[in-house]
Amino acid sequence: MFNFLFRLKRNQLINQKRFKAPKFIELTGINRRFEVTYTQAELNNIKYKLQDSQLILTGNIDNHTQIESVLLKFLKTHAKETFYPICEQAAKEVGVKFNRITIRGQKTRWGSCSSKGNINLNYKLLFVEPEQVRYVIYHEMVHLQHFNHSRDFWQTLSFYVPNAKKTAHDMRRIRIDRLY
Ligand SMILES: [Zn+2]
Repeated sequence: MFNFLFRLKRNQLINQKRFKAPKFIELTGINRRFEVTYTQAELNNIKYKLQDSQLILTGNIDNHTQIESVLLKFLKTHAKETFYPICEQAAKEVGVKFNRITIRGQKTRWGSCSSKGNINLNYKLLFVEPEQVRYVIYHEMVHLQHFNHSRDFWQTLSFYVPNAKKTAHDMRRIRIDRLY
C-alpha cells in the first residue's frame, strides 16, 4: 500500500494512514510542489502529464489502486530526472565514473552502490531536505573511491558535504518505511 506524505507545516511530515488521492504533492527534496488534477476519461489506465507545476491525471480516476501506481511511477521517473544531474555533478567533482542510476523504493536505505559503479537511490529522497539528497548522492559517489566507511571515506565526503556526519545521523532518525 502506497501512502503519500504531505508537508503540511514546515518540518512536519504527516503520514496518511489510508490512501487518499492527493490534491498536492510536495517534493521538499527538490523544492517543488505540484498541484494534482484528475480528469475522468474513458481509458483502460490512468495517464499522467506534467505541465509546469501541474500534474494532470487522466483516465478512470475512480480507481484508487491505479492512481497510486501512476503516482508512484511519476515519483520514480521524476526522481530519476532530477537526481541524475546532481549525480553527474557529484561524480565530476569527486572524480569518479558511475555506470547506472536506478531509482528504487527501499524500506531501509536511502541509497547504495556496487563495485561496478551502479548506484541505487530511493525515490523517497524526494520527501526529505535538499541538503540530505545531496548528502546521499555524494555519499554513494565517494564510495566509488572508498569502498568502506573508513576515516578516509568520511574525510573525503566531508570535503564535499560539510556536516556529512551530522546529516548521516539526522537521516538515520527518519523512518523510511513510513515514507511510502
Ligand atoms: Zn555508505
